[in-house]
Amino acid sequence: MPNTLYDALIAPHHSNQYPLFRLKDKTDWTYQNLIQAAGRYASLLESIGTKPGDRVAVQVQKSVEAVALYIGCVQQGCVFLPLNTAYTPTEVEYFIGDAKPALFVCDESAETKLTPIAETNNCKVLTLNSDGAGTLSQQAQSLPVKLDSQARSEDDLAAILYTSGTTGRSKGAMLSHGNLLSNAITLHKYWQFTNKDVLLHGLPIYHTHGLFVATNTILLAGGSCIFLPSFNTDDFIEYLPQSTTMMGVPTFYTRLLSDDRLNKDLVSHMRLFISGSAPLLAETHVEFESRTGQMILERYGMTETNMNTSNPYDGERRAGTVGFELPGVEARVVDPESREEKPADEIGVLEVRGDNVFKGYWQMPEKTAQEFTSDGFFITGDLAKRDSDGYLHIVGRDKDLIISGGFNIYPKEIELLLDDQPGVLESAVVAAPHTDFGEGVVAILVAQSKSHDNNSQTSIDIESIKAAASEQLAKFKQPKEYVIVESLPRNSMGKVQKNVLREQVKDTFLL
Ligand code: AMP
Repeated sequence: MPNTLYDALIAPHHSNQYPLFRLKDKTDWTYQNLIQAAGRYASLLESIGTKPGDRVAVQVQKSVEAVALYIGCVQQGCVFLPLNTAYTPTEVEYFIGDAKPALFVCDESAETKLTPIAETNNCKVLTLNSDGAGTLSQQAQSLPVKLDSQARSEDDLAAILYTSGTTGRSKGAMLSHGNLLSNAITLHKYWQFTNKDVLLHGLPIYHTHGLFVATNTILLAGGSCIFLPSFNTDDFIEYLPQSTTMMGVPTFYTRLLSDDRLNKDLVSHMRLFISGSAPLLAETHVEFESRTGQMILERYGMTETNMNTSNPYDGERRAGTVGFELPGVEARVVDPESREEKPADEIGVLEVRGDNVFKGYWQMPEKTAQEFTSDGFFITGDLAKRDSDGYLHIVGRDKDLIISGGFNIYPKEIELLLDDQPGVLESAVVAAPHTDFGEGVVAILVAQSKSHDNNSQTSIDIESIKAAASEQLAKFKQPKEYVIVESLPRNSMGKVQKNVLREQVKDTFLL
């Protein structure tokens, strides 16, 4: 019976002996290994009575077995629900209570704490450790390898991914088989993946980037992955010569750049470097090109929509932009009030529509309805502008917008100026309460280190930065306060956590 994702990603490989996952200090996994492990997990899901549509929540370390569990869920028609490994038991309790999974898979070390939470919600618990051991594999071992799959149409759910929830509770984004497959097909073609590709994979697999963008694209292409537990500069320097492509968050690139071993010779054979999940500084793009001769391809997406835009594969990859709409995706920048499309170079709210866009938030029909326009566009919550050549620029989240004395301030505009100042490595701009204007700008700065080997930092001359700001920015946009920190708080995908910074400066009353 047809199963949209399984038939496209897995069934064509049923007799494929090619290495799929190349592992550090372990035997590689071929396509066959994945199919067999997934087929046993599918049998296990059947034997414990899970039915198509049942959720399987998974909070485990990155492993090939965890990928096989994702595939086994797809095969058995279950909805895969990966959870960030950093979530505490209290947070996990919310997700289990909300999603009501039939099965929860966790690391053995968390079993004692998490079992009571699962049992209260009538959810069975199995374990899977980073080395593949645990009760999941033990129980699956003696079961037959299933090679058929449950019927699942394009509209059936394949996964629920909870958004990172920096404001309020996280929401479960429902992704269908059709959402995931359409995006994998698009990316496979647009980025020209083939079975010759070897993708360097150091991303977590509880997030759309490492799980769907990387894994689904490679499965569709029939290529290989060098599958590392996480990012580590030494490992990446070691494995880059064996790779053809790399997907990373911007921090991967800044860390590689801070290592002198990154040079043209190391990567001259590479076909493609892709960055996403957080803004790549234009300077990083430029520095990477001058050091390696390679232009990073920046793309933009989100949990709810998969990938929406990309810089071109052939053609100019413009630093500081996220390129153009991918084939099959429509994007528009609109005025938040009138909902009219904005002219070139004007900032508005970014809305997207296409087969890639999710089915809504799990059990939140009202919230879902609020986030879609009457003509079916999803309101991303990102502020963007389109330049006169059609390239889209993401200028921040709309909730990061600062309103001072009734004027809108886009943090990105100020951050770009601050980043350009001598001695500044990077910056973040957030609002603090202002007695007169409601909100005022606070600039948070990180100093450049003196050299790659020496972690000491250069000093920042606040007075000259103030002078530059007053020359180039209208008064209401000029930072009222400057704070120097060692580093910006980031989440596991490299996104600066502005909510954390806002919290830190909230008692800084500005006059
Ligand atoms: P997530 O749902 O965790 O993937 O986060 C999605 C959000 O990350 C988007 O709504 C953007 O705010 C941000 N994002 C992703 N890719 C980029 C990019 N290339 N440039 C700027 N922001 C990005």
